[in-house]
Amino acid sequence: MTGHVSFYAQVTANFDKAAALTQYPKGLLDQIKECNSVYRMAFPIERDNGDIEVIYSWRAEHSQHKLPTKGGIRFAPDVNEDEVMALAALMTYKCAIVDVPFGGAKGGIKIDRRNYSQSELERITRRYTYELLRKNFIGPGIDVPAPDYGTGPKEMSWIADTYSTLAADKLDAMGCVTGKPIPQGGVRGRTEATGRGVYFGVRECVNLGEDMKALGLSTGVSGKRVVVQGLGNVGYHAAKFLQEAGAVLVGLAEYEGAIANPDGLDLEQVMAHRRETKSILNFKGATNLPNPQAALELDCDILVPAALENQITKENAPRVLAKVIAEGANGPLTAEAGEILNQRGALILPDMYLNAGGVTVSYFEWVKNLSHVRFGRMEKRFEERAYRKLLQASESLTGKKLTEAEVAEYTGGPSEEDLVNSGLEETMISSYRQIREVRLKHPAKPDLRTAAFISAIDKIVTSYNDLGIFP
Ligand code: NAD
Repeated sequence: MTGHVSFYAQVTANFDKAAALTQYPKGLLDQIKECNSVYRMAFPIERDNGDIEVIYSWRAEHSQHKLPTKGGIRFAPDVNEDEVMALAALMTYKCAIVDVPFGGAKGGIKIDRRNYSQSELERITRRYTYELLRKNFIGPGIDVPAPDYGTGPKEMSWIADTYSTLAADKLDAMGCVTGKPIPQGGVRGRTEATGRGVYFGVRECVNLGEDMKALGLSTGVSGKRVVVQGLGNVGYHAAKFLQEAGAVLVGLAEYEGAIANPDGLDLEQVMAHRRETKSILNFKGATNLPNPQAALELDCDILVPAALENQITKENAPRVLAKVIAEGANGPLTAEAGEILNQRGALILPDMYLNAGGVTVSYFEWVKNLSHVRFGRMEKRFEERAYRKLLQASESLTGKKLTEAEVAEYTGGPSEEDLVNSGLEETMISSYRQIREVRLKHPAKPDLRTAAFISAIDKIVTSYNDLGIFP
Protein backbone atom coordinates (compact mmCIF):
# COMPACT_ATOMS: atom_id res chain seq x y z
CA MET A 1 0.00 0.00 0.00
CA THR A 2 3.01 2.25 0.48
CA GLY A 3 3.31 4.83 -2.25
CA HIS A 4 -0.43 5.58 -2.69
CA VAL A 5 -0.48 7.88 0.30
CA SER A 6 2.11 10.55 1.10
CA PHE A 7 3.51 9.50 4.46
CA TYR A 8 4.89 13.00 5.06
CA ALA A 9 1.41 14.45 4.47
CA GLN A 10 0.04 12.03 7.11
CA VAL A 11 2.58 13.16 9.69
CA THR A 12 1.91 16.80 8.80
CA ALA A 13 -1.86 16.30 9.11
CA ASN A 14 -1.41 14.78 12.57
CA PHE A 15 0.93 17.63 13.56
CA ASP A 16 -1.53 20.28 12.34
CA LYS A 17 -4.35 18.71 14.32
CA ALA A 18 -2.31 19.05 17.52
CA ALA A 19 -0.81 22.45 16.62
CA ALA A 20 -4.37 23.85 16.34
CA LEU A 21 -4.86 22.97 20.01
CA THR A 22 -1.82 25.02 21.12
CA GLN A 23 -1.41 28.80 21.48
CA TYR A 24 1.98 29.17 19.76
CA PRO A 25 2.53 31.61 16.87
CA LYS A 26 1.99 30.12 13.42
CA GLY A 27 5.57 30.89 12.30
CA LEU A 28 7.04 29.01 15.21
CA LEU A 29 4.80 26.00 14.57
CA ASP A 30 5.76 26.12 10.87
CA GLN A 31 9.45 26.09 11.80
CA ILE A 32 8.97 23.11 14.10
CA LYS A 33 7.03 21.24 11.40
CA GLU A 34 9.38 21.94 8.50
CA CYS A 35 11.96 19.36 7.40
CA ASN A 36 15.19 21.40 7.50
CA SER A 37 17.63 19.50 5.29
CA VAL A 38 17.36 16.66 2.80
CA TYR A 39 20.37 15.17 1.06
CA ARG A 40 19.83 12.87 -1.91
CA MET A 41 22.73 10.74 -3.05
CA ALA A 42 23.21 8.59 -6.14
CA PHE A 43 26.42 6.60 -6.27
CA PRO A 44 27.73 3.62 -8.22
CA ILE A 45 28.67 0.25 -6.80
CA GLU A 46 30.23 -2.71 -8.50
CA ARG A 47 28.11 -5.86 -8.32
CA ASP A 48 29.82 -9.20 -7.70
CA ASN A 49 29.46 -10.04 -11.40
CA GLY A 50 31.31 -6.87 -12.43
CA ASP A 51 28.24 -4.83 -13.43
CA ILE A 52 28.00 -1.23 -12.29
CA GLU A 53 24.75 -0.22 -10.61
CA VAL A 54 23.53 3.19 -9.46
CA ILE A 55 22.23 3.22 -5.89
CA TYR A 56 19.73 5.87 -4.78
CA SER A 57 19.69 7.01 -1.17
CA TRP A 58 18.69 9.83 1.16
CA ARG A 59 19.36 11.35 4.54
CA ALA A 60 16.87 13.85 5.97
CA GLU A 61 17.53 16.00 9.03
CA HIS A 62 14.15 17.26 10.10
CA SER A 63 15.21 19.45 13.00
CA GLN A 64 18.52 20.55 14.47
CA HIS A 65 16.97 22.23 17.51
CA LYS A 66 19.04 19.75 19.48
CA LEU A 67 22.25 18.11 18.28
CA PRO A 68 23.12 15.59 17.14
CA THR A 69 20.16 14.67 14.98
CA LYS A 70 19.23 11.01 15.26
CA GLY A 71 17.37 8.42 13.25
CA GLY A 72 17.66 5.02 11.64
CA ILE A 73 18.71 3.94 8.18
CA ARG A 74 16.27 1.87 6.17
CA PHE A 75 17.02 -0.55 3.34
CA ALA A 76 13.81 -1.10 1.37
CA PRO A 77 12.82 -1.20 -2.30
CA ASP A 78 10.30 1.64 -2.04
CA VAL A 79 12.35 4.10 0.03
CA ASN A 80 11.76 7.62 -1.26
CA GLU A 81 12.24 11.23 -0.23
CA ASP A 82 8.70 11.64 1.11
CA GLU A 83 9.09 8.58 3.34
CA VAL A 84 12.49 9.61 4.70
CA MET A 85 11.23 13.13 5.48
CA ALA A 86 8.18 11.70 7.29
CA LEU A 87 10.31 9.33 9.33
CA ALA A 88 12.76 12.12 10.19
CA ALA A 89 9.88 14.30 11.38
CA LEU A 90 8.58 11.47 13.57
CA MET A 91 12.06 11.17 15.08
CA THR A 92 12.02 14.83 16.14
CA TYR A 93 8.73 14.41 17.99
CA LYS A 94 9.70 10.98 19.34
CA CYS A 95 12.91 12.28 20.91
CA ALA A 96 11.03 15.19 22.49
CA ILE A 97 8.33 12.90 23.92
CA VAL A 98 10.83 10.63 25.67
CA ASP A 99 13.21 13.45 26.65
CA VAL A 100 16.11 12.26 24.53
CA PRO A 101 18.20 15.34 23.66
CA PHE A 102 18.40 14.85 19.88
CA GLY A 103 16.89 16.38 16.77
CA GLY A 104 15.17 14.09 14.28
CA ALA A 105 16.70 12.49 11.18
CA LYS A 106 16.28 9.43 8.97
CA GLY A 107 18.11 7.76 6.12
CA GLY A 108 17.15 5.32 3.45
CA ILE A 109 18.75 3.29 0.69
CA LYS A 110 16.45 2.16 -2.11
CA ILE A 111 17.35 -1.53 -2.34
CA ASP A 112 15.75 -4.88 -1.60
CA ARG A 113 18.51 -6.36 0.52
CA ARG A 114 17.57 -9.91 -0.48
CA ASN A 115 18.91 -9.17 -3.98
CA TYR A 116 22.44 -8.32 -2.79
CA SER A 117 25.27 -10.42 -1.41
CA GLN A 118 26.87 -9.58 1.90
CA SER A 119 29.90 -7.98 0.26
CA GLU A 120 27.65 -5.90 -2.03
CA LEU A 121 25.68 -4.71 1.02
CA GLU A 122 28.96 -3.83 2.68
CA ARG A 123 30.12 -1.80 -0.33
CA ILE A 124 26.77 0.02 -0.44
CA THR A 125 26.79 0.80 3.29
CA ARG A 126 30.39 2.00 3.33
CA ARG A 127 29.92 4.19 0.26
CA TYR A 128 26.74 5.66 1.73
CA THR A 129 28.65 6.51 4.92
CA TYR A 130 31.39 8.14 2.88
CA GLU A 131 28.83 10.26 1.01
CA LEU A 132 27.28 11.35 4.33
CA LEU A 133 30.68 12.29 5.71
CA ARG A 134 31.58 14.31 2.61
CA LYS A 135 28.60 16.59 3.24
CA ASN A 136 28.83 16.70 7.02
CA PHE A 137 25.71 14.55 7.46
CA ILE A 138 27.27 12.19 10.01
CA GLY A 139 29.25 12.55 13.24
CA PRO A 140 28.82 12.09 17.00
CA GLY A 141 27.83 15.75 17.39
CA ILE A 142 26.16 16.15 13.98
CA ASP A 143 23.91 13.28 12.91
CA VAL A 144 23.93 9.75 14.33
CA PRO A 145 22.24 6.92 12.37
CA ALA A 146 20.86 3.67 13.83
CA PRO A 147 19.18 0.50 12.57
CA ASP A 148 15.72 0.56 11.01
CA TYR A 149 13.77 -1.63 8.59
CA GLY A 150 16.18 -3.93 6.76
CA THR A 151 19.31 -2.99 8.74
CA GLY A 152 20.91 -4.23 11.95
CA PRO A 153 24.16 -4.38 13.96
CA LYS A 154 26.27 -5.51 10.99
CA GLU A 155 25.44 -2.45 8.88
CA MET A 156 26.04 -0.24 11.91
CA SER A 157 29.51 -1.72 12.42
CA TRP A 158 30.38 -1.00 8.75
CA ILE A 159 29.25 2.58 9.26
CA ALA A 160 31.28 2.96 12.47
CA ASP A 161 34.37 1.48 10.84
CA THR A 162 34.13 3.64 7.70
CA TYR A 163 33.53 6.78 9.73
CA SER A 164 36.32 6.16 12.22
CA THR A 165 38.81 5.41 9.44
CA LEU A 166 38.13 8.75 7.81
CA ALA A 167 37.20 11.01 10.74
CA ALA A 168 39.61 13.62 12.01
CA ASP A 169 38.42 13.17 15.61
CA LYS A 170 39.00 9.51 16.41
CA LEU A 171 38.37 9.77 20.17
CA ASP A 172 34.60 9.94 19.97
CA ALA A 173 34.24 8.34 16.54
CA MET A 174 32.25 5.34 17.84
CA GLY A 175 29.48 7.76 18.81
CA CYS A 176 28.79 8.35 15.08
CA VAL A 177 26.22 5.54 14.92
CA THR A 178 24.24 3.41 17.39
CA GLY A 179 22.92 -0.13 17.32
CA LYS A 180 26.49 -1.43 16.94
CA PRO A 181 27.57 -4.92 18.03
CA ILE A 182 28.83 -4.93 21.67
CA PRO A 183 32.56 -5.38 20.82
CA GLN A 184 32.32 -2.40 18.44
CA GLY A 185 31.01 -0.06 21.12
CA GLY A 186 27.38 -1.17 21.28
CA VAL A 187 25.37 -1.28 24.47
CA ARG A 188 23.71 -4.39 25.91
CA GLY A 189 19.96 -4.40 25.37
CA ARG A 190 19.89 -2.25 22.21
CA THR A 191 18.87 -5.02 19.80
CA GLU A 192 15.66 -5.84 21.66
CA ALA A 193 15.08 -2.28 22.97
CA THR A 194 12.31 -1.20 20.60
CA GLY A 195 10.28 -4.38 21.12
CA ARG A 196 10.87 -4.28 24.86
CA GLY A 197 9.75 -0.64 24.87
CA VAL A 198 6.59 -1.62 22.97
CA TYR A 199 5.93 -4.18 25.68
CA PHE A 200 6.51 -1.67 28.52
CA GLY A 201 4.19 0.83 26.81
CA VAL A 202 1.41 -1.72 26.25
CA ARG A 203 1.78 -2.99 29.81
CA GLU A 204 1.50 0.52 31.23
CA CYS A 205 -1.58 1.17 29.11
CA VAL A 206 -3.42 -2.05 29.99
CA ASN A 207 -2.60 -1.71 33.68
CA LEU A 208 -4.74 1.41 34.00
CA GLY A 209 -8.14 0.18 35.19
CA GLU A 210 -10.09 3.29 34.22
CA ASP A 211 -8.89 3.18 30.59
CA MET A 212 -9.44 -0.57 30.28
CA LYS A 213 -12.95 -0.26 31.68
CA ALA A 214 -13.79 2.23 28.94
CA LEU A 215 -12.64 -0.36 26.38
CA GLY A 216 -14.48 -3.22 28.05
CA LEU A 217 -11.21 -4.99 28.89
CA SER A 218 -9.78 -6.32 32.13
CA THR A 219 -6.44 -4.95 33.35
CA GLY A 220 -3.09 -6.64 32.80
CA VAL A 221 -1.21 -8.15 29.86
CA SER A 222 -1.94 -11.70 30.92
CA GLY A 223 -4.65 -13.32 28.81
CA LYS A 224 -4.87 -10.48 26.28
CA ARG A 225 -5.35 -11.72 22.71
CA VAL A 226 -2.64 -10.19 20.54
CA VAL A 227 -1.97 -10.04 16.78
CA VAL A 228 1.46 -8.97 15.49
CA GLN A 229 2.20 -7.90 11.92
CA GLY A 230 5.90 -8.22 10.97
CA LEU A 231 8.25 -10.48 12.90
CA GLY A 232 11.44 -8.51 12.39
CA ASN A 233 13.38 -6.72 15.09
CA VAL A 234 10.46 -4.78 16.53
CA GLY A 235 7.62 -7.26 15.97
CA TYR A 236 9.50 -10.36 17.09
CA HIS A 237 10.72 -8.78 20.34
CA ALA A 238 7.37 -7.14 21.11
CA ALA A 239 5.65 -10.52 20.57
CA LYS A 240 8.27 -12.28 22.70
CA PHE A 241 7.95 -9.98 25.71
CA LEU A 242 4.13 -9.89 25.47
CA GLN A 243 3.95 -13.69 25.30
CA GLU A 244 6.36 -14.02 28.23
CA ALA A 245 4.01 -11.80 30.23
CA GLY A 246 1.09 -14.12 29.51
CA ALA A 247 -0.47 -12.59 26.39
CA VAL A 248 -1.93 -15.05 23.85
CA LEU A 249 -0.64 -14.61 20.29
CA VAL A 250 -3.77 -15.34 18.25
CA GLY A 251 -2.40 -14.14 14.91
CA LEU A 252 0.99 -13.50 13.29
CA ALA A 253 1.71 -11.99 9.90
CA GLU A 254 4.84 -11.89 7.80
CA TYR A 255 5.65 -10.81 4.28
CA GLU A 256 4.62 -14.17 2.75
CA GLY A 257 1.38 -14.74 4.66
CA ALA A 258 -0.41 -14.86 7.98
CA ILE A 259 -1.57 -17.52 10.43
CA ALA A 260 -4.11 -17.60 13.23
CA ASN A 261 -5.02 -19.76 16.18
CA PRO A 262 -7.50 -18.49 18.79
CA ASP A 263 -5.82 -20.77 21.38
CA GLY A 264 -2.44 -19.12 20.83
CA LEU A 265 0.69 -19.61 18.73
CA ASP A 266 4.06 -20.39 20.28
CA LEU A 267 6.35 -17.67 18.96
CA GLU A 268 9.63 -19.60 19.11
CA GLN A 269 8.05 -22.60 17.39
CA VAL A 270 6.64 -20.35 14.66
CA MET A 271 10.07 -18.75 14.15
CA ALA A 272 11.73 -22.20 13.98
CA HIS A 273 9.07 -23.34 11.47
CA ARG A 274 9.72 -20.24 9.36
CA ARG A 275 13.49 -20.78 9.41
CA GLU A 276 12.99 -24.40 8.35
CA THR A 277 10.34 -23.96 5.63
CA LYS A 278 11.10 -20.32 4.67
CA SER A 279 7.46 -19.47 5.39
CA ILE A 280 5.20 -18.77 8.32
CA LEU A 281 2.37 -20.64 6.55
CA ASN A 282 1.27 -24.22 7.28
CA PHE A 283 2.26 -24.03 10.94
CA LYS A 284 0.90 -27.00 12.90
CA GLY A 285 -2.49 -26.29 14.50
CA ALA A 286 -2.86 -22.86 12.86
CA THR A 287 -5.11 -21.63 10.06
CA ASN A 288 -3.54 -19.97 7.01
CA LEU A 289 -5.17 -16.62 6.27
CA PRO A 290 -5.94 -15.64 2.66
CA ASN A 291 -3.29 -12.86 2.66
CA PRO A 292 -0.88 -11.12 5.10
CA GLN A 293 -3.21 -8.11 5.48
CA ALA A 294 -6.06 -10.32 6.73
CA ALA A 295 -4.29 -10.62 10.10
CA LEU A 296 -5.05 -6.96 10.76
CA GLU A 297 -8.75 -7.80 10.80
CA LEU A 298 -8.60 -10.72 13.23
CA ASP A 299 -10.69 -10.63 16.39
CA CYS A 300 -8.23 -9.62 19.13
CA ASP A 301 -7.68 -7.22 22.04
CA ILE A 302 -4.34 -5.75 20.96
CA LEU A 303 -3.05 -5.32 17.41
CA VAL A 304 0.67 -4.60 16.99
CA PRO A 305 1.48 -3.48 13.43
CA ALA A 306 5.28 -3.75 13.34
CA ALA A 307 6.12 -3.90 9.64
CA LEU A 308 5.78 -0.70 7.63
CA GLU A 309 3.72 2.47 7.19
CA ASN A 310 0.24 2.90 5.65
CA GLN A 311 -0.94 -0.61 6.52
CA ILE A 312 -4.31 0.49 7.89
CA THR A 313 -6.08 2.96 5.64
CA LYS A 314 -9.64 4.23 5.37
CA GLU A 315 -10.44 1.09 3.32
CA ASN A 316 -9.59 -1.58 5.87
CA ALA A 317 -9.89 0.49 9.10
CA PRO A 318 -13.63 -0.23 9.49
CA ARG A 319 -12.83 -3.96 9.57
CA VAL A 320 -10.10 -3.67 12.25
CA LEU A 321 -11.56 -5.14 15.45
CA ALA A 322 -8.75 -4.62 18.00
CA LYS A 323 -9.48 -2.43 21.01
CA VAL A 324 -5.87 -1.34 21.45
CA ILE A 325 -3.71 -0.58 18.44
CA ALA A 326 -0.07 -0.56 19.49
CA GLU A 327 2.00 1.08 16.76
CA GLY A 328 5.31 -0.78 16.75
CA ALA A 329 6.04 0.40 13.21
CA ASN A 330 6.28 4.04 12.20
CA GLY A 331 3.10 5.34 10.59
CA PRO A 332 1.16 2.06 10.23
CA LEU A 333 -2.13 3.99 10.28
CA THR A 334 -3.00 6.76 7.86
CA ALA A 335 -4.49 9.87 9.47
CA GLU A 336 -7.94 8.90 8.09
CA ALA A 337 -7.68 5.38 9.48
CA GLY A 338 -6.76 6.88 12.85
CA GLU A 339 -9.93 9.00 12.81
CA ILE A 340 -12.10 5.98 11.99
CA LEU A 341 -10.58 3.92 14.80
CA ASN A 342 -10.75 6.77 17.31
CA GLN A 343 -14.41 7.25 16.49
CA ARG A 344 -15.19 3.65 17.18
CA GLY A 345 -13.49 4.06 20.58
CA ALA A 346 -10.26 2.15 20.00
CA LEU A 347 -7.18 3.25 21.91
CA ILE A 348 -4.21 3.99 19.66
CA LEU A 349 -0.76 3.92 21.24
CA PRO A 350 1.07 6.22 18.82
CA ASP A 351 4.33 5.22 17.12
CA MET A 352 6.25 8.30 18.24
CA TYR A 353 5.73 7.23 21.83
CA LEU A 354 5.43 3.45 21.60
CA ASN A 355 8.48 2.62 19.48
CA ALA A 356 10.72 5.21 21.16
CA GLY A 357 12.52 2.46 23.12
CA GLY A 358 15.00 2.12 20.26
CA VAL A 359 16.11 5.73 20.28
CA THR A 360 16.10 5.78 24.08
CA VAL A 361 18.61 2.96 24.28
CA SER A 362 20.51 4.43 21.32
CA TYR A 363 20.87 7.53 23.47
CA PHE A 364 22.33 5.35 26.26
CA GLU A 365 24.74 3.82 23.73
CA TRP A 366 25.86 7.25 22.52
CA VAL A 367 26.38 8.41 26.14
CA LYS A 368 28.43 5.25 26.74
CA ASN A 369 30.55 5.94 23.65
CA LEU A 370 31.25 9.53 24.67
CA SER A 371 31.98 8.64 28.30
CA HIS A 372 34.13 5.64 27.31
CA VAL A 373 32.94 3.57 30.26
CA ARG A 374 30.56 0.63 30.51
CA PHE A 375 27.41 1.31 32.51
CA GLY A 376 27.63 -0.28 35.97
CA ARG A 377 31.42 -0.54 35.97
CA MET A 378 31.88 2.05 38.71
CA GLU A 379 29.01 1.12 41.03
CA LYS A 380 28.43 -2.64 40.72
CA ARG A 381 30.78 -3.79 43.52
CA PHE A 382 30.05 -0.76 45.68
CA GLU A 383 26.32 -1.47 45.58
CA GLU A 384 26.83 -5.17 46.22
CA ARG A 385 28.76 -4.33 49.37
CA ALA A 386 26.13 -1.81 50.49
CA TYR A 387 23.30 -4.36 50.01
CA ARG A 388 25.34 -6.98 51.87
CA LYS A 389 25.77 -4.63 54.85
CA LEU A 390 22.02 -3.98 54.88
CA LEU A 391 21.28 -7.70 54.81
CA GLN A 392 23.78 -8.38 57.60
CA ALA A 393 22.10 -5.66 59.70
CA SER A 394 18.66 -7.19 59.17
CA GLU A 395 20.04 -10.68 59.89
CA SER A 396 21.45 -9.57 63.21
CA LEU A 397 18.19 -7.73 64.06
CA THR A 398 15.93 -10.67 63.20
CA GLY A 399 18.33 -13.42 64.26
CA LYS A 400 17.60 -15.21 60.96
CA LYS A 401 20.32 -16.22 58.53
CA LEU A 402 19.85 -16.22 54.74
CA THR A 403 21.41 -18.89 52.53
CA GLU A 404 24.36 -17.90 50.32
CA ALA A 405 22.08 -18.26 47.27
CA GLU A 406 19.54 -15.82 48.76
CA VAL A 407 22.30 -13.38 49.66
CA ALA A 408 23.64 -13.56 46.11
CA GLU A 409 20.16 -12.94 44.69
CA TYR A 410 19.44 -9.90 46.87
CA THR A 411 22.83 -8.26 46.72
CA GLY A 412 23.80 -8.48 43.04
CA GLY A 413 24.79 -5.01 41.83
CA PRO A 414 23.38 -3.88 38.48
CA SER A 415 24.95 -4.99 35.20
CA GLU A 416 24.97 -2.81 32.10
CA GLU A 417 21.91 -4.65 30.77
CA ASP A 418 20.02 -4.15 34.07
CA LEU A 419 20.72 -0.42 33.96
CA VAL A 420 19.78 -0.05 30.29
CA ASN A 421 16.51 -1.94 30.79
CA SER A 422 15.72 0.02 33.90
CA GLY A 423 16.33 3.33 32.08
CA LEU A 424 14.12 2.11 29.24
CA GLU A 425 11.32 1.01 31.58
CA GLU A 426 11.39 4.32 33.44
CA THR A 427 11.29 6.23 30.15
CA MET A 428 8.34 4.29 28.73
CA ILE A 429 6.30 4.52 31.93
CA SER A 430 6.92 8.18 32.66
CA SER A 431 6.40 9.26 29.05
CA TYR A 432 3.10 7.40 28.87
CA ARG A 433 1.91 9.08 32.05
CA GLN A 434 2.96 12.45 30.66
CA ILE A 435 1.03 12.16 27.40
CA ARG A 436 -1.99 10.66 29.14
CA GLU A 437 -1.96 13.60 31.52
CA VAL A 438 -1.80 16.08 28.62
CA ARG A 439 -4.82 14.29 27.15
CA LEU A 440 -6.84 14.41 30.36
CA LYS A 441 -5.95 18.01 31.19
CA HIS A 442 -6.62 19.50 27.75
CA PRO A 443 -10.18 20.84 27.41
CA ALA A 444 -10.48 19.20 23.95
CA LYS A 445 -9.67 15.73 25.41
CA PRO A 446 -7.61 14.83 22.32
CA ASP A 447 -6.62 11.30 21.33
CA LEU A 448 -3.25 10.02 22.57
CA ARG A 449 -1.41 10.78 19.31
CA THR A 450 -2.57 14.38 19.40
CA ALA A 451 -1.66 14.60 23.09
CA ALA A 452 1.79 13.19 22.27
CA PHE A 453 2.25 15.85 19.55
CA ILE A 454 1.17 18.61 21.97
CA SER A 455 3.67 17.33 24.53
CA ALA A 456 6.41 17.24 21.87
CA ILE A 457 5.58 20.74 20.59
CA ASP A 458 5.68 22.17 24.13
CA LYS A 459 9.12 20.70 24.73
CA ILE A 460 10.54 21.78 21.36
CA VAL A 461 9.26 25.33 21.83
CA THR A 462 11.10 25.45 25.14
CA SER A 463 14.34 24.50 23.50
CA TYR A 464 13.89 27.16 20.81
CA ASN A 465 13.39 29.62 23.63
CA ASP A 466 16.56 28.31 25.27
CA LEU A 467 18.44 29.11 22.08
CA GLY A 468 17.03 32.61 22.08
CA ILE A 469 15.75 32.19 18.53
CA PHE A 470 12.20 33.07 19.52
CA PRO A 471 12.52 35.33 22.55
P1 NAD B 1 12.88 -5.44 10.22
O1 NAD B 1 13.43 -5.34 8.86
O2 NAD B 1 13.73 -6.05 11.29
O3 NAD B 1 11.48 -6.26 10.23
C1 NAD B 1 10.37 -5.93 9.48
C2 NAD B 1 9.62 -7.24 9.20
O4 NAD B 1 8.35 -6.94 8.59
C3 NAD B 1 10.37 -8.15 8.24
O5 NAD B 1 10.49 -9.44 8.82
C4 NAD B 1 9.50 -8.14 6.98
O6 NAD B 1 9.55 -9.37 6.26
C5 NAD B 1 8.11 -7.91 7.57
N1 NAD B 1 7.14 -7.40 6.62
C6 NAD B 1 7.32 -6.58 5.56
N2 NAD B 1 6.15 -6.32 4.94
C7 NAD B 1 5.20 -7.02 5.62
C8 NAD B 1 3.80 -7.17 5.47
N3 NAD B 1 3.13 -6.55 4.49
N4 NAD B 1 3.12 -7.95 6.36
C9 NAD B 1 3.78 -8.57 7.35
N5 NAD B 1 5.12 -8.45 7.54
C10 NAD B 1 5.82 -7.70 6.69
O7 NAD B 1 12.43 -3.96 10.62
P2 NAD B 1 12.21 -3.35 12.05
O8 NAD B 1 13.48 -2.73 12.48
O9 NAD B 1 11.53 -4.34 12.92
O10 NAD B 1 11.21 -2.16 11.70
C11 NAD B 1 9.81 -2.35 11.57
C12 NAD B 1 9.11 -1.02 11.78
O11 NAD B 1 9.46 -0.51 13.08
C13 NAD B 1 9.47 0.08 10.80
O12 NAD B 1 8.34 0.90 10.60
C14 NAD B 1 10.54 0.86 11.54
O13 NAD B 1 10.65 2.20 11.10
C15 NAD B 1 10.00 0.79 12.94
N6 NAD B 1 10.99 1.02 14.00
C16 NAD B 1 12.12 0.28 14.11
C17 NAD B 1 13.02 0.53 15.16
C18 NAD B 1 14.25 -0.31 15.40
O14 NAD B 1 14.91 -0.11 16.41
N7 NAD B 1 14.58 -1.27 14.55
C19 NAD B 1 12.77 1.57 16.06
C20 NAD B 1 11.60 2.31 15.93
C21 NAD B 1 10.72 2.02 14.90
